[in-house]
Amino acid sequence: MNEFSPCPHQDEVLAAAASHAGGESLASHLEQCASCADAVLVQTFLGAGAAALAAAAPVPGPEALLRRSARRDRERALARSQLPIRIAGRVAVVAGAAGTVVAGVRLGPAAWSWLESLAPAAASQPSAPASPLLAVGALVLSALVVGIFTSWQAAE
Ligand SMILES: [Zn+2]
Repeated sequence: MNEFSPCPHQDEVLAAAASHAGGESLASHLEQCASCADAVLVQTFLGAGAAALAAAAPVPGPEALLRRSARRDRERALARSQLPIRIAGRVAVVAGAAGTVVAGVRLGPAAWSWLESLAPAAASQPSAPASPLLAVGALVLSALVVGIFTSWQAAE
């Protein structure tokens, strides 16, 4: 059971203590009333803590808050407006990659035979039948991977 009951004069005493008014009557009441003495002690302690906190981390004024909010709104609007550009960039990368694959598959054998005609001595050596297509495919694939990676990095 809690039998604590605050002093009926506590609000007046706290107000007087906060405004440093009250003088002798306040001091004599605080000597006689333990409830008001404790309340004034807690109020003084919390007030000092609040003042120290406000001095350590000042709350920005309304102008600063409005500027910060407006800047965030502009950044969000800018990101929203650039979204179609980023999507189009990604689509272009994928389309370019697909076009590179198609071109590699269609032009690969012709390019390989042209390369073989440049080096007739090397072409006379026996090789596996699938190796030219594999070599061109590996080149196209590695170029594709590097291109996609760099384009993706540039888009972000
Ligand atoms: Zn009291």
